[in-house]
Amino acid sequence: MTSPQQIRYDNRVVVVTGAGSGLGKAYALFFAERGAKVVVNDLGGAFNGGGQDGRVADAVVSEIQRAGGTAVASYDSVENGERIIATATQAFGRIDVLINNAGILRDVTLRNMKDEDWDKIIAVHLTGAWKTTRAAWPWFRKQRYGRVVNTSSTSGLYGNFGQGNYAAAKLALVGFTETLAKEGAKYNIRATALAPSSASRLTATVWPPEMMAAMDPAWVVPLVGVLVHESLPAHLSGGIFEAAAGHYDMLRWERSRGALLRPDENLTPDVLLRSWDKVVDFTDAEHPRGVAGAMGLLQRANQLPPNVP
Ligand code: NAD
Repeated sequence: MTSPQQIRYDNRVVVVTGAGSGLGKAYALFFAERGAKVVVNDLGGAFNGGGQDGRVADAVVSEIQRAGGTAVASYDSVENGERIIATATQAFGRIDVLINNAGILRDVTLRNMKDEDWDKIIAVHLTGAWKTTRAAWPWFRKQRYGRVVNTSSTSGLYGNFGQGNYAAAKLALVGFTETLAKEGAKYNIRATALAPSSASRLTATVWPPEMMAAMDPAWVVPLVGVLVHESLPAHLSGGIFEAAAGHYDMLRWERSRGALLRPDENLTPDVLLRSWDKVVDFTDAEHPRGVAGAMGLLQRANQLPPNVP
């Protein structure tokens, strides 16, 4: 990557959803300060998705303008993501960067979860990101430039007690991101997934006060600044990144070498169990970015000796 004195975003149009508080607000202030024209989107609802208050987005826009930056407010829910993108294109004539960040929580164990808890989380996190991205996509393609960050979560990557709905939506965003990277590659559209950790009103529900005091959203900003910059290398598109407490890392899939067995009439669970060690052994694992070559594997498998029952 290039290392200019100061990474800047002059004349880039950046849309940040859920930019009225927490991480989104920190992103919006940063990009405006570094020369971008920012759409500050926020519904201004409660942390569980109820209500609406336009003053939340307005306050961030005012802060940006008072500091000499350029920003407009958008009060739409990401569930109507096309309106958020329309705000950007009507105000600034383009969109370069989309940060899908808006989020809510409806934490409840599977045993007690209601359809509405599931549906609302999927609607805001997953369908919301789809709506904004779909609307931005034709602009990105036409410009042959676009950057998308989808906000995932460690809850999605690893699972978390009481967050089945949220975890499902957050991991779905990883698959969505990997697909955006593949479809966007030839148009210089790059997409990455981010699992952040920082103090916000969402983590206030689960973290103790000392952790809240220690985890500043500002520490996630540097990673997002790099991920949406024009210098992000193509091979990092589709990547999954974590940021927490000043620590930044990348995750990838790992596939064991596995067991290859001849697909004949004696291929049973009993036969597979004899090779089970190979299935679950990660020695010399590979790090795939696509499916294993099924036809090649089948060809090799058919050359193996027949299975003994
Ligand atoms: P936050 O509650 O401070 O910010 C979320 C913002 O999104 C709020 O201002 C809210 O009004 C807005 N919002 C909610 N629903 C919306 C909708 N339908 N349309 C538009 N705006 C909406 O929380 P945060 O921690 O800053 O969360 C930002 C993102 O980061 C979320 O996607 C969250 O799931 C994710 N995340 C945060 C953490 C963390 O440690 N803070 C960890 C993992 C993931």
